[in-house]
Amino acid sequence: MDNNIVWLDGEYVAYADATIAPLSHSLSYATSVYEGMRSYHGVIFKLDAHLARLRQSAEVFGHDISYSEKILCDVCYELLNINALVEAYVKIQVFYDDADVSFMGRGCRSRFLITVLPMMPRVILGGMELFISLWRRPPANCHPYGAKTSSTYALSYLSFQARPKGADDVLFLSSEGEVCEASGANIFFVKGNTLVTPTTEKCLAGITRHTILKELAPDLGLETEVRTIFFNEINNFDAAFLCGTAIEIHAVKKIDDIHYLESRHVNRLVESYKNMVMRS
Ligand code: PMP
Repeated sequence: MDNNIVWLDGEYVAYADATIAPLSHSLSYATSVYEGMRSYHGVIFKLDAHLARLRQSAEVFGHDISYSEKILCDVCYELLNINALVEAYVKIQVFYDDADVSFMGRGCRSRFLITVLPMMPRVILGGMELFISLWRRPPANCHPYGAKTSSTYALSYLSFQARPKGADDVLFLSSEGEVCEASGANIFFVKGNTLVTPTTEKCLAGITRHTILKELAPDLGLETEVRTIFFNEINNFDAAFLCGTAIEIHAVKKIDDIHYLESRHVNRLVESYKNMVMRS
């Protein structure tokens, strides 16, 4: 990171000079919101959708985004340019400063950080092994699922740290036993010609999930179903996969003791997604 240039509150600065107050509200109280995007061959995939979700997340936490979409877009591309990156992870974070060190955050100002980091595709050969998280996802009225916020990732972190040896990721259930999502990705199941995924009541409304539902599945002639899925029915599905900006689309071969078959449909989705991001 030594030579990395970032954008902090409207200025391009060296990563080492992007200083943040130790008592920043968001560091203590998990009130930051962010977006993680991917640049493929220098083009940021679904940038508009990510900026729209950032605004929605910011609204939930009362953050003030005073920069226009055009400015944010230009800064992301300028950072790729300055840091000479084309295959990259682009992260935008909005967080509160230390104007009030109590949780109430009175008078705190929203700060803005954009970083770009090298990122190449990740491949897990043969499909991922998931385990059911020891932690449950809270009910919809106990967590702001409409925001991509740092507070979500405390449970992701704890679950991921506690995952059994050999597990690639965890699957969160709700307290009622509904399937929610993985630590940083949405989940789909496959039954015959139909892709089934949970509603977004207790998971993030992923942009990759949306792309699958609205673009890839219809293009491939696959049916889709968005509904509550209970854990005790997941052994009825033929196949499963995770999806997200970082993980892209990855087959799941096992959840606890339930094994899934390799699926032609999942393989086609993986290929179509790859083609789509490369064409973008
Ligand atoms: N759920 C969680 C908890 C995530 O962190 C992510 C990754 N951002 C996703 C789902 C997938 O979202 P997206 O497709 O927008 O990356």
